[in-house]
Amino acid sequence: RRIELRKLLDQPTISSDGRRVELAANIGSVEDLQKVLANGAEGIGLFRTEFLYMGRSSLPSEEEQFQVYKHVLERMDNKPVVIRTLDIGGDKELPYMKLPVESNPFLGLRAVRLCLSKQDLFRTQLRALLRASSYGQLKIMFPMIAVVDELLAAKQLLQEEKEKLVQEGIAVSSNIEVGIMIEVPAAALAADFLAKEADFFSIGTNDLIQYTMAADRMNETVSYLYQPCHPAILRLIQMVIQAAAKEGKWVGMCGEMAGDETAIPILLGMGLHEFSMSASSILPARALIKQTSHREWAGYTEQILSMSSQAQIKQFVEQKTRSDL
Ligand code: PEP
Ligand code: MG
Repeated sequence: RRIELRKLLDQPTISSDGRRVELAANIGSVEDLQKVLANGAEGIGLFRTEFLYMGRSSLPSEEEQFQVYKHVLERMDNKPVVIRTLDIGGDKELPYMKLPVESNPFLGLRAVRLCLSKQDLFRTQLRALLRASSYGQLKIMFPMIAVVDELLAAKQLLQEEKEKLVQEGIAVSSNIEVGIMIEVPAAALAADFLAKEADFFSIGTNDLIQYTMAADRMNETVSYLYQPCHPAILRLIQMVIQAAAKEGKWVGMCGEMAGDETAIPILLGMGLHEFSMSASSILPARALIKQTSHREWAGYTEQILSMSSQAQIKQFVEQKTRSDL
């Protein structure tokens, strides 16, 4: 099986009926790049930049960040690289920032909310990203967007920093896509408004499931509620993909669900364009997609969304995929 998978290393990801999708990798640091390249990723779908800020005693400088982003873009050799701006708060803390203690950190000043309230910190990261943009195909992604105003505010700061850099004579790419994570249920439910302002979406199912089910993703006593294929989750995902399609925008997924073999045929059928996962899942996912028909699974979507439980949906997928083989 390993030998067969190796053959897929440099191949594009195309379903059995000819639909092309992109299989990308999630990374947390430059050390992950080796594995990404060795496993045939077509891009980076999520670079979690918070790890650049963690495990140290002060904020990383603009220059330090620029070097890291530039390195990743260069190593990826013009393949798409989605870099997510700082997603701190929730379970990820920065002791040196002395942020106020919150009783519900996952519902508090997290990610883009924090960045918009600490603009110096945010502007530093945006400048580093903009400076790196001329070294590859950079796409910038904002995490935890709940409402359109947050996206507009973040885009405004990005635009301001871009204008400053251009005035300083520093090269900035003119085609940086700016997208958002869809991981707050409100963003999924009102994705049609966000789709007008974002160039792309990436669905963060780890948080989307946590917030939709109201079940802490770290709490094992409620882990039975972590159900990627529950109709509540699948319906939100379908809404997001349809809202983006109306505006001609592409949709990826960078939560764990993107690499889940039960979810992949459903997501392919719904029209997801990009799947971002840990590097080791890429070749198995490519093999699965190659033997799955987009059109066939698009035809099952309505039926799947009318099923009342994850168990029923999983059983349906297992039955169908077994008969495909
Ligand atoms: C997610 O929420 O699905 C996601 C990819 O982001 P993180 O796991 O870093 O919160
Ligand atoms: Mg998240």
